[in-house]
Amino acid sequence: MKVLLVSTYELGHQPLHLAAPAAALRSAGHDVRTLDTSVEPWTREPVDWAEAVAFSVPMHTAMRLALRAAAAVRAARPELPICLYGLYATVSRDLTLGSAGLADHAIAGEYEEGLTAWVNGLLERDSEPSQAVIDLGRRRPAAVPAREGLPPLERYAHLALGGEERPVGYVEASHGCVHRCGHCPIPVVYNGRIRIVPEDVVLADIEALVAAGARHITFGDPDFLNGPHHSRRVVAAMHERWPDLTFDCTVKVEHILRHRELWGEFETGGCLFVVSAFETVNNQTLERLDKGHTTADAAAAVALLRDHSIEIRPSFLPFTPWTTLDEIADIVDFVAAMDLVPNVDPVQFTIRLLVPEGSLLVSTLAAEGRLGRYDTERLTWTWSSDDPAVDELQTRLGALVEGAQTAGEPIGQIYERVRAAVHSAAGRHSEPVSYGHEGRPRLTEPWFC
Ligand code: SF4
Repeated sequence: MKVLLVSTYELGHQPLHLAAPAAALRSAGHDVRTLDTSVEPWTREPVDWAEAVAFSVPMHTAMRLALRAAAAVRAARPELPICLYGLYATVSRDLTLGSAGLADHAIAGEYEEGLTAWVNGLLERDSEPSQAVIDLGRRRPAAVPAREGLPPLERYAHLALGGEERPVGYVEASHGCVHRCGHCPIPVVYNGRIRIVPEDVVLADIEALVAAGARHITFGDPDFLNGPHHSRRVVAAMHERWPDLTFDCTVKVEHILRHRELWGEFETGGCLFVVSAFETVNNQTLERLDKGHTTADAAAAVALLRDHSIEIRPSFLPFTPWTTLDEIADIVDFVAAMDLVPNVDPVQFTIRLLVPEGSLLVSTLAAEGRLGRYDTERLTWTWSSDDPAVDELQTRLGALVEGAQTAGEPIGQIYERVRAAVHSAAGRHSEPVSYGHEGRPRLTEPWFC
């Protein structure tokens, strides 16, 4: 069967979630084409060619874009079967499946086998009526992702280091997470479990990426230290085969500190930076989100990694239902005090809590009387702050950062403007701060969920 796999957004890297299902479908004998609309034009030709279309939806932004694209496909060819697959696939199933008719099937979790079974079922004309499935099982060995036919790495995010930019390859050594942080979409699907990608599959994928020009690898696991022994083995084997290759990974503060003995190995293995979800510097909010760390822990993690010449690139979630203006001011001051100005993508100062369907926070917010209606367009439960000035500040910062980035302002200058706006709203006095080290390692695409 002719299957078109479509990715709309995957954090600016070459889509692993096109390559992995392409391998599974091709090994089952299907003819697969891929389309990444983040770098390739959307045209009718592949839609006319296809006998089935599947959209990759690994995150919120991808799901919103995919729903628009699915509506366009349905309008153009109403008879074409459509599937959604990935972490967000089963979100808003009342909107996407059944009589609403944007898609015929949705698979979250370990989707490759379910997607193959869905296509096989279409061929045999015995597919089930519309359904949403969460599948964490794996009954066959994982296939090495098939990257042939994807746009080249040059078209995606690069590693910026000093004055140089290097092509980046994106892989995952595990899926899911052993934690259940209240605001995170991953526990909704994985419920505190992980699935390991076999070491030989990860290394074969890295080999293909190196052959395609990658000089840096991003391990995109939700938390690279959920399976620390596995990750150590992967890093050691990667470094042995490609000693010049560098890497980054995502690790929560709690794991950075718990596995402190491991960072020397990772430094030797080429680790340049670690993305870590700091979220806020208010211990009460951190507790509400069930983050498992305090502000002092976050500061200790920065210092620990710097002892190994590894930088942290924190992500923040400043705007939650409990946020005060003082809390936002504390976040921007913490960033300067910890010498993290060049490490924080300015968009991080503007992020507002999303509460997707099934989020563990829904019951908390409902009990506190903070839950509004479900916004089917934005795919989130709505909420508003106790203090309208907080919502106003978020809108203002969003516009400020978007305008400054479009104008190409340097990161330090954007930080200064964000800090002045926040301090003015919170009634704090702003003294200029010194910042530098613009050459610290980062990816050229800001992290955006
Ligand atoms: S540790 Fe990270 S990935 Fe895991 S549940 Fe918490 S926020 Fe999600």
